[in-house]
Amino acid sequence: MFSYFGKLFYVYFIIVLLLCFMYIPILYAQNSFDANYGDGEAMYSDMFAWPIPGYTSISSYFGRRNSPTAGASSYHLGVDIPAPEGTYLYAIDDGLVTFASWGAGGGYTIVIELSNYSNMSVSYCHVSPIMFVERGESVSKKEIIGTVGPRNVYGIQNNPYKDENGNPTNGSTTGSHLHFAIKENGSNVDPLDFYEK
Ligand SMILES: [Zn+2]
Repeated sequence: MFSYFGKLFYVYFIIVLLLCFMYIPILYAQNSFDANYGDGEAMYSDMFAWPIPGYTSISSYFGRRNSPTAGASSYHLGVDIPAPEGTYLYAIDDGLVTFASWGAGGGYTIVIELSNYSNMSVSYCHVSPIMFVERGESVSKKEIIGTVGPRNVYGIQNNPYKDENGNPTNGSTTGSHLHFAIKENGSNVDPLDFYEK
């Protein structure tokens, strides 16, 4: 027969075993969550996730450029990544959504204040008006926040951005793409500085 301490140890052992089993689904859930993150080509970073897996070609880099369309800046404050409408967009890191709405030249825009760094934010412009997050919401790295938006959007009062046919556009844009921008201490920096291909 077990001694008193023998029984106690036995009960303790069973509890530890049960706790271990309880954690298996949690670990499994995290793994399957990561599996949801697009498995397409991504630019590597030891800080951030790539915001749009499967799409890494850049149609317009950060910095000085010839303005591609009326209202688009000649100093480009982010990078443009062409992708079809509906392509999933992911949080590059943990943070708080500080803007998720119509953002004029950026069209429908999501801004996340990053929580692991001070004074750093990321913007996603020309996204779909159907967003998966709202202002004030916390997001985790690799969480889906929205999708690439359409070129044309309707229902914005006095939208000054129009295509060649006079139809209103999703900010100053010539086609479906993600405008990806990072701000550090209030200034835009080249987002590609944080990634390597
Ligand atoms: Zn852009």
